[in-house]
Amino acid sequence: MPELHISDEVRAVIGDEAAARESARPLTRALCTSCGQRLDGTVNLQVRTDGKQTRTEHVHATCAPSAVLPLTGSLTTAAEETMHLVLDVLDHGGAALPVLIAQTAGTVYEFRGPDTDLTDAVTAKLLAAGFTLISRVRQAPRPAEEWIAVLLLGHGPAGEDGLLVLEPDGAQFYGGAVVIPDGWLAAVARYGWGVLYVGEVGLPHLPPEPKARLKALREAAQAGRLVGARIAVGGPPSPTGDMT
Ligand SMILES: [Zn+2]
Repeated sequence: MPELHISDEVRAVIGDEAAARESARPLTRALCTSCGQRLDGTVNLQVRTDGKQTRTEHVHATCAPSAVLPLTGSLTTAAEETMHLVLDVLDHGGAALPVLIAQTAGTVYEFRGPDTDLTDAVTAKLLAAGFTLISRVRQAPRPAEEWIAVLLLGHGPAGEDGLLVLEPDGAQFYGGAVVIPDGWLAAVARYGWGVLYVGEVGLPHLPPEPKARLKALREAAQAGRLVGARIAVGGPPSPTGDMT
């Protein structure tokens, strides 16, 4: 089990109550913000603050100290964090549904003062955007309107496939290379959508088997650390502006 270390400097910023809450959090599937690897051994709590807003992050003790750092950029834009994403076709109560599983490297919390709760900033943003807190991986969650995953087949420098996940305002939630597993495109063609799950599921270190991924999703759901939504999946816009 990872063991959390909070320096006096960090404790002075977040307060004793938040420090206690942080210490009680399970970190077994969270990732180090510095190196992107799963947290283990001694873990340092860092805070980033601009004097008004503060967020906490977790790093290996061997990667960085428990320190107070300047906050730059947006607090809640997941696209600015390193994002891991895999595609799979997973059983949902007998239906084989196309899924996209995403996890940010590092758990990012919003913290607005000693009297407020630490809020997982990415999760809070997704819930506000129509995502559902997942308690069981059985039925597809309701759709998040105007979110879209855009497949870029063979567009990479070495012909690899790419994927963009775009938010309603066009902001990029994810952009990068993906491996498209057997049956995924057929499942998307059948349903016209995929289920985007976001949470602490242990990517990118999960074994790439559907069984292991389903188990990790279920564990994250039971722990209240998984949100999801159906999102549209399409190709790049054609010259006429239609989605292919
Ligand atoms: Zn690390």
